[in-house]
Amino acid sequence: MTDFKDSYVMTIGGKSVGGGSQIEAFNPATKEVIASFPDARQDQLDDAVRSAREAFQTWSVAPLSERQQAVAAIGQAMTDNAEELMALLTREQGKPRAGAEWEIFGSADWCAQVSKMSLPDEVVEETDDRRVITRFSPLGVVGAITPWNFPVLLAIWKIAPALLTGNCMVLKPSPFTPLTTLKLGEICQSILPPGVFNVVSGGDDLGKWMTGHPDINKIAFTGHTETGKHVMRSAADNLKRLTLELGGNDPAIVLPDVDPKAVAPELFWGAFQNNAQFCNSIKRLYIHEDVYDEVRDALAEFAKGIRVGNGADEGTDIGPIQNLPQYEKVNDFFDDCASNGYTFALGGSVDRGAEGWFIPITLVDNPPENSRIVQEEPFGPILPLLKWSDEEDVIQRANDTRYGLGASVWGRDLEAVQRIGSRLDAGTVWLNEIHQYSPHQAFGGHKESGIGCENSVHGLMEYTNWHTITLNKSWGKG
Ligand code: NAD
Repeated sequence: MTDFKDSYVMTIGGKSVGGGSQIEAFNPATKEVIASFPDARQDQLDDAVRSAREAFQTWSVAPLSERQQAVAAIGQAMTDNAEELMALLTREQGKPRAGAEWEIFGSADWCAQVSKMSLPDEVVEETDDRRVITRFSPLGVVGAITPWNFPVLLAIWKIAPALLTGNCMVLKPSPFTPLTTLKLGEICQSILPPGVFNVVSGGDDLGKWMTGHPDINKIAFTGHTETGKHVMRSAADNLKRLTLELGGNDPAIVLPDVDPKAVAPELFWGAFQNNAQFCNSIKRLYIHEDVYDEVRDALAEFAKGIRVGNGADEGTDIGPIQNLPQYEKVNDFFDDCASNGYTFALGGSVDRGAEGWFIPITLVDNPPENSRIVQEEPFGPILPLLKWSDEEDVIQRANDTRYGLGASVWGRDLEAVQRIGSRLDAGTVWLNEIHQYSPHQAFGGHKESGIGCENSVHGLMEYTNWHTITLNKSWGKG
């Protein structure tokens, strides 16, 4: 078990490293400062990159089984330290116990499953005269940059495949949720050779130094679409490889044959899981006009039984908004809806004097298609419900977005569900279910929701170069 002291350090070259200046971390349920963490200097980032580069010399050629065991050991250590990690995650992120369990045990399970994966050489040709193979060789030093909504899981989605394929890593968590990731770095000090996995903390500038760093070979980034564009521009200087997992505005389409009361809880959690601070939340809910009123009322009824509060309190279902800028951003959507006179089927008014950054669950009743709440990603618990009647029209409306991350379709007519689902332009389309992920399932965004993918063998390949090696066996034999 790791000692969970209330002090936070970076992990550079296998050692705990403090910073000169510190940044404060808040508990979003109380707005109180709970800790401070290092604000890395540029020379500390250079140290981390240098130690990763040195470690790469041996880690990249270590037997696969060694790297598999290391990834499995990270998962096991997360399980061993789960109670402390979950409590810390709730304190810094705000998510209630159930969400913290899902994230920490989910991350541990991810490591366990990824640790059994491999990318064998592809034999393209094997004859008496010639052998051609494509090997998947590691890239070198990967810079990972993560957001604040699922800080641990989204880090593991990068750490596990990158290390398994023989890369070394420098990881930068969001300045809003660095604490659990810094502890993960400390935990890994006793598991991995020095330099294989480094964790540095700091503000957005640290991210910019990473994307511009000449000795980082790839950036694995999850965050906003606009930030992703900055990352891509900056990474162009040395042609870094990129995986960009960006924003979404996921539609869900509800067919006229659903049972409103039965579908309501699934749609509710599809939209409000993690307090809707979820790239794959349902952000536009298109309900067929025949069942619109019933589904809307069933959703509002179900939502009344949901408790919003401090994630550390037993019985809390949904926590606060994670940080002040995001709280202000979500409030802006409330103001926009109110000033345009849209109707709220539930919620609609925020108590700005609350102890934490709390926002009530809110349903907006059929706002115009061109409204901000429909067109943009609020990343908070305010959901527009929209009416539809014509299948072609609803498909066109669902696809009419610059995003293409996820989508879902709900109905008993499986033929219709599949027909509509197959035409939705999104990286993941869920039919009569939602938010099912797997280490074996490719996950990524279409359009401005991202580039490349995470998870599955395709995700593993994103941490490798294609290395084609040909051998003319008969050469020199006369
Ligand atoms: P963000 O873009 O503000 O920050 C993400 C990370 O990038 C942070 O670590 C931040 O410090 C860093 N950063 C900021 N500016 C940078 C720059 N110029 N160069 C390099 N790094 C920089 O995003 P956020 O607010 O933390 O996360 C919310 C967003 O993430 C939402 O849009 C959400 O949809 C998206 N998201 C996407 C996925 C996915 O898998 N597609 C998953 C979760 C969240």
